[in-house]
Amino acid sequence: MPELFPSLLSLRDMPQVQQPHYADASAEKRVVDKLRSLPPLVFAGECDDLRDKLAQVANGKAFLLQGGDCAETFDGVQANPIKAKLRVLLAMSVVLTYAGQVPVVKLGRLAGQYAKPRSKDTETREGVTLPAYRGDAVNGFDFTAQARHQDPERLLQMYNASAATLNLVRAFVKGGFADLRQLHAWNASFVRDSHVEKRYEEMAGEIERALGFMEACGVDAETMRTVDFYASHEALLLDYENAMTRIDSRSQEPYDTSGHMVWIGERTRQPDGAHVELLRSVRNPLGVKLGPTATAEDALEIADRLDPERIPGRITFITRMGAGKVRDLLPALVEGVEASGRKVAWVCDPMHGNTFETAKGYKTREYAAVVDELNGFFDVHEQLGTWPGGVHVELTGDDVTECLGGAFQLSEEDLASRYETTCDPRLNRNQSLELAFMIAERLND
Ligand code: PEP
Ligand code: MN
Repeated sequence: MPELFPSLLSLRDMPQVQQPHYADASAEKRVVDKLRSLPPLVFAGECDDLRDKLAQVANGKAFLLQGGDCAETFDGVQANPIKAKLRVLLAMSVVLTYAGQVPVVKLGRLAGQYAKPRSKDTETREGVTLPAYRGDAVNGFDFTAQARHQDPERLLQMYNASAATLNLVRAFVKGGFADLRQLHAWNASFVRDSHVEKRYEEMAGEIERALGFMEACGVDAETMRTVDFYASHEALLLDYENAMTRIDSRSQEPYDTSGHMVWIGERTRQPDGAHVELLRSVRNPLGVKLGPTATAEDALEIADRLDPERIPGRITFITRMGAGKVRDLLPALVEGVEASGRKVAWVCDPMHGNTFETAKGYKTREYAAVVDELNGFFDVHEQLGTWPGGVHVELTGDDVTECLGGAFQLSEEDLASRYETTCDPRLNRNQSLELAFMIAERLND
């Protein structure tokens, strides 16, 4: 009988990039075997539900909100920061649903976002060169030889951190935290001091009146009490993702049970590479990042490898062109893919094409550039008559100072006060909410 999904051995024989190199192969094998014996983190039926929802996105019937940290950390697995992140995502989704008048598919960039592709293998500071930080799943962030050592045991910590995060998220979204009738109460402290407070409070008031009306009419408001929330991350580490792939007992099909949706990054999307091979066989909905060098032919080649059957909701293309390029490059990409008859969800990542380093060495992004790329994305889809399906953002629920601008006009001097990311700069709570209102306006045009 043919294998239902490729073995780790066969993946290791394929061209592959961005993988750790462990000194101790027997320790690596022990960890992979252990991971294989652990319970799945998500279930096949949930992945199917998300795929159906993403089919709605591809068909212009829903909008995807995908967001979270660039890199989650093991230290960050604590109730408060996870709650704050969830809160900002739920608040953004309420803004999009109500002001944008469109169903929103809610997808966290969390519970598994622990591995990072890097542009360089090493990092040099003051004459000392060490292995680059590749995410907590691979090595530590501190700039010491000990921390930067690549340790396979960290894959088990990744599993545990993902499980703890997902457990909390599941409890929050089903346990009353996401109840729309509590909108005022749970947002009182959250949006206080926020520049968008007034707009948000007005909207919350309107929603509460609408809910009151519905209840008075006898409409069952159960769907207002809980939300469906899904988890996603970049499927970067072949060891981990392969070990988490299981055969679903109902369908006998393989699923990557490390997250509901997984995506292939800009640096690992080679059509004949191990990452495409890894994800080809699993039934999860898949994301593919497409940067400025991607042509329509590239996109179609990857899509045909990943999804020859053209399963609705299977492919989400996450474009990240940069604010200065999106209007030039996106049209041909979208037109070429649409001309093939293939239906994909088109999602804009307005972050990764707009990163730069300040004179003081902070990696940052301008809020205005994020808005500019998003406007370009909406303009292009409007001109082509295609559906701008969603947004993919790096954000946090905390008041960090990592991206410049926004309503509070964060300056380069401000960056030093709360720069906490271990990888790319994230929108803070205010910038995220402000962005949600901006997107809602475009959806309402
Ligand atoms: C990321 O999403 O953090 C990332 C590395 O993106 P990309 O693959 O698009 O560069
Ligand atoms: Mn990033």
